[in-house]
Amino acid sequence: MTQREAYQKGTERLRQAGIAEAKLDAWYLLEYVTGTSRATYFADSEKPLNPAEEEQYFEWIGQREKRIPLQHLTGVQEFMGLDFLVNDQVLIPRQDTEILVETALELVRDPLWKKRKAEDGIHILDLCTGSGCILLSVLRFLLEERGSFSGRRPDEGALYTCAGESSKPGGGKVTGVGIDLSGKALELARKNGERLQIQAEFYQSDLFERVEGTYDLILSNPPYIPTAEISGLQEEVRAHDPVLALDGGRDGLSFYRRILKEVRGYLTVGGYLAFEIGADQAADVGEMMRSAGFRQVTVRQDLAELDRVVYGIL
Ligand code: GLN
Repeated sequence: MTQREAYQKGTERLRQAGIAEAKLDAWYLLEYVTGTSRATYFADSEKPLNPAEEEQYFEWIGQREKRIPLQHLTGVQEFMGLDFLVNDQVLIPRQDTEILVETALELVRDPLWKKRKAEDGIHILDLCTGSGCILLSVLRFLLEERGSFSGRRPDEGALYTCAGESSKPGGGKVTGVGIDLSGKALELARKNGERLQIQAEFYQSDLFERVEGTYDLILSNPPYIPTAEISGLQEEVRAHDPVLALDGGRDGLSFYRRILKEVRGYLTVGGYLAFEIGADQAADVGEMMRSAGFRQVTVRQDLAELDRVVYGIL
């Protein structure tokens, strides 16, 4: 069977199964199985799949028909231009969450804050880290900007990052800690750190339970779906994302409430707290932040112009 035939048949089967992005999903699976690219495909779509590729491709099409998310088949999701390993133990990184990373990077670039932090360094905490996508991408871009991201040392083949060091004069340490309740999620977050060659510490904690010290920037995309709404989510999410990563309690706000109750003990004065929120939660979470003593509480929207991030300064 040629690549073109496989792609057409795959698309048709997914369409019949009612998969919204049938064509795109059939394409991504073809890319993963055969290693083709759009350019190669358009130059020679009559290239045959070998028997192993054909078997794998249609096995995956079969699983996708059953609503298994594409990312659980390929095992990866791109986020902030980086490839993250994913599995059914973590929330698949969403594009919506990139705005939280972008906000965090803007906050630390703020000239006044930057100057103040230049000597002390920047210590970042990510609550409910999941795959580690938020923390690892913030660290990666921050270190890159500071000229401190070097990746692997070619002569040693050893893992080498400059988290904790900085080549720039006056540049303090940048460190990152990610916590999660799920040990299995943490295993994956650590693997992502190793693969992306970004040094971060990941450990198990129920929010602040085992967290020590203070941080300059606390980030979190906690579970925020009201419990009763989970059964109405699309099957890929409802049946395949871990419920632990979705369920935000009766009104969806229980994690924000718990975090805000304790956060003052863990954030430096002048430090930032930035949350991802559900599109209808900006007013509630903003109000909760102001009552907890945060100033300059600001809402940011995602690309779909939905409220997606709330942040404030302590
Ligand atoms: N922080 C992770 C992410 O944004 C996991 C979030 C969660 O489990 N609710 O992908």
